[in-house]
Amino acid sequence: MRSLEGQLHLCAINTATLGHREPLAKTLDRIARAGFGGVAPWRREVEAIGATAAARHLRAVGLTVTGYCRSAYLATCDEAERRANMSANIKALDDAAELGAQCFVLVVGGAHGVKGGLVGARSQVHDGVAELYLEARKRGVPLAIEPLHPTYASDRSVVNTIRQALALCESVAPGDNAMLGLAIDVYHCWWDPDLASSIASAGQAGRILGYHVCDWLADTQDRLMDRGMMGDGVVDLPGFRHLIELAGYRGMVEVEIFSEQRWWKVAPDEVLSVCADRLQSAC
Ligand code: ZN
Repeated sequence: MRSLEGQLHLCAINTATLGHREPLAKTLDRIARAGFGGVAPWRREVEAIGATAAARHLRAVGLTVTGYCRSAYLATCDEAERRANMSANIKALDDAAELGAQCFVLVVGGAHGVKGGLVGARSQVHDGVAELYLEARKRGVPLAIEPLHPTYASDRSVVNTIRQALALCESVAPGDNAMLGLAIDVYHCWWDPDLASSIASAGQAGRILGYHVCDWLADTQDRLMDRGMMGDGVVDLPGFRHLIELAGYRGMVEVEIFSEQRWWKVAPDEVLSVCADRLQSAC
């Protein structure tokens, strides 16, 4: 396994970690100044200044875009919503191409309100990924399906395990691992009894496009907004990264922490400094 000590250029910061409290340009400056090699920005931040300006700023500070966050849902309540989300996603792909993003992250949507419930939602997601994949291929932007923890199946994602996401990739784009793969987030996947074999299969298929870290707090207060800093929770982070790298992943390690009550109240530079420390000591 690669050592991350003194290797912050192998590490990236998802801007959600800083709580979206400042304009993108300022956030990019901070992340670059702290020595990180990459960043994963969100659509609303990029759209606020335009992709062209964002891309220019990214080049100026020398940050790689590990992933562009994130898709509008592919499972929807009705046709009007489906169309609106698809055009938002196509626009996001244009922006991702301009940013030179290594992937566009897909959070596919939950079952609530979808015709046919869970089964219907999964079927819509399959069709949505297939449609978006054709658009992504035209633009040369890989799609990374991010499986979310099963507690999100109702409201955020009906893709809940690495194995399920991998099967979706193989069904939509058999053999095309360059344009369709997975973003694997420890927060969503750490509990999976099939973790080792699922990661090995995803790696063998060449489909691991992103790796996100944080921690699962033993006494977590909120399944969305109370992610822990690496080392503060129950996830075996070195063990997880060992599996990811054993499977062939050579991309960056991206920190993604939603933490309304804790880290989003800490000064951004201090958050980055703790992230840097924990990446080198706890990941
Ligand atoms: Zn993630």
